[in-house]
Amino acid sequence: MSEAKEAAGAAAAARRAELRAISTKIVTDDVLADVLEMEKPRFVVDYDRYLQHLWEANPEIAELLRAAQSLEGARDSLYTYLERAERRVFDVDNDLHVLEKTQVRHSIRIMRSIIGPINELRTEVSALDCLWKLAQERREELQWPVSVGFIMEFIHLFRSVGGRSNIYREHEEVRKGIPDFLRLKGREAAQQRTDMLDAMASNLKKYLMKYPSGLDGEVIGWRRENRDRILRHFGGHTDDWLDYHWHLEHVIKDPRTLSQLIELSAEQQKAVEEAIAHRVPFGITPYYLSLMDYNASVGFDRAIRAQVIPPPDYVREMVAHRHERALTFDFMGEHDTSPVDLVTRRYPGIAILKPFNTCSQICVYCQRNWEIEECMAPDAMAPEQQIAEAIAWLQEHRGVGDVLVTGGDPAVMPDEAVETLLAALATQDHVYRIRLGTRTPVVLPFRWTSSLADILGRYHEPGRREIAVVTHFEHPYEVTPEARDAVQAIRRQGIGVYNQQVFTVENSRRFESVKLRRVLKSIGVDPYYTFNMKGKEETRRYMVPIARILQERKEEARLLPGLDRTDEPVFNVPKLGKNHLRAMQDHRLVMVRPDGCRVYELHPWEKNISPVPPYNYVDVPIYDYLEELAARGEDIRDYRTIWYYY
Ligand code: SF4
Repeated sequence: MSEAKEAAGAAAAARRAELRAISTKIVTDDVLADVLEMEKPRFVVDYDRYLQHLWEANPEIAELLRAAQSLEGARDSLYTYLERAERRVFDVDNDLHVLEKTQVRHSIRIMRSIIGPINELRTEVSALDCLWKLAQERREELQWPVSVGFIMEFIHLFRSVGGRSNIYREHEEVRKGIPDFLRLKGREAAQQRTDMLDAMASNLKKYLMKYPSGLDGEVIGWRRENRDRILRHFGGHTDDWLDYHWHLEHVIKDPRTLSQLIELSAEQQKAVEEAIAHRVPFGITPYYLSLMDYNASVGFDRAIRAQVIPPPDYVREMVAHRHERALTFDFMGEHDTSPVDLVTRRYPGIAILKPFNTCSQICVYCQRNWEIEECMAPDAMAPEQQIAEAIAWLQEHRGVGDVLVTGGDPAVMPDEAVETLLAALATQDHVYRIRLGTRTPVVLPFRWTSSLADILGRYHEPGRREIAVVTHFEHPYEVTPEARDAVQAIRRQGIGVYNQQVFTVENSRRFESVKLRRVLKSIGVDPYYTFNMKGKEETRRYMVPIARILQERKEEARLLPGLDRTDEPVFNVPKLGKNHLRAMQDHRLVMVRPDGCRVYELHPWEKNISPVPPYNYVDVPIYDYLEELAARGEDIRDYRTIWYYY
């Protein structure tokens, strides 16, 4: 093992010992540390002190709530206060920074929404009732236990409506008023500005160094060792490693082989055993396994392990709902959006075609885990007749010009099957784009032989029909020279490669997704979508609050040149399709529940086109997410503005 690896392992061990006793103490170490135990320490907080902070955050509101004789009285007083607060923003002698004023207006709108009776009716909870009873010191009358996460939400909201968000408190310019570079002229102004930008750039660089990519020389060396160990285990040769058939023949599907090839925690070992005993789909390609650090405590591979090694709660949920899996886990409502077998349609111009129902490995948080029964299932190919009927359906629906072929993973189909399918689709002259949705560049890059690339190239006819490849890299650690070669083989055909990232707890640390965008662009992949994770119960532990995806976009992605941040953060609304999260006019925060969960009203993409009702989404609490980050060694002060994203 290299020195860097040993040092990382030692630091991780020290951090693990520290984590068991975690309190509100902030841990700043970069190394992930709870890989082996996967335990989640909780913040130790003094509830009454937090309540005190709440009232101090906005004494005017605290006084109103205390004085109100009834819930409706509290509501009236608060609406009156908000009206006054909003008018104060427009006073000529109000010397708040103009950006802080914007924040006040924004938070007043949120507060009005949260205390609105219609939102209480819809969500069946009342944040105002909780606040009023807490202020009145009538805790015994609370209908719901009120969490610290809830209190934290209102500490920030109260501060914000009072013009004290302090988002910019660390910026000298705010204290001084107008920044120097705007007061100065010419070269002097430019010098000041460039100093400011240099500071931002060097901060960005510091974060990017935190996350190694699979293109780093040292990491390439570690992966060679892994490759040799895996080849030895299976009795293979270096040439075999480059042959995708060899990888498909040696997909790891049993816990014993897995634990012989990498170190597993007791919890991981047990979860994999349970998954296999209960026939929960599981499988890892030897190549993807080689991306994992042999020693689990190194921790750089955390996102990679999380992709394929199921956590115990996931296995429990999958087992509990084994018999009604197809309905329980169909979050996107595909059953109700499939006009004919193999086809799903949520947009006027796009249809999804699913001819192949398996993959070279199984991702834990797959959207189609309700449908995929087994890794490399032998009967995965849809019957010819069914495919013919799906094509006939396309023939009748000539508005559908963009067909996303997915599955399963269609690139795992044999070359002849890929060619036959493309040829059938090419008979439809209204189909101007065929997208192939595949994870093979990430998990099986050797699949991209010149033969497969040539097949795609034959159907890519600029001006007539486009072929595009949509893939799914999650982390810079997945971006390797092998993945680069696969992507380049596709691009040499003139075909674009696009990435759909799922924003999870595994890739959401400060600038982690920025690093992913940068390395993806460097190998020829354009970031396309960043998905908020689906609200699927079985994968809840991976979920990140919407506020974080918005914060990442504004405070991190925005620092990149436009060509690097071509992705759009989206929420895929069941049965309807993508809601663009950056568009404030397309969603509304309607409630903060006592458990700290925000409830959003997500508007359909069809808003202003057709009257489809919105979708109410219960998010994961920001507080819980910050706890998780602290458990992973993050300095949560780094995320302190997250509360102000709605
Ligand atoms: S490759 Fe795609 S379809 Fe297959 S398991 Fe992973 S996410 Fe699901």
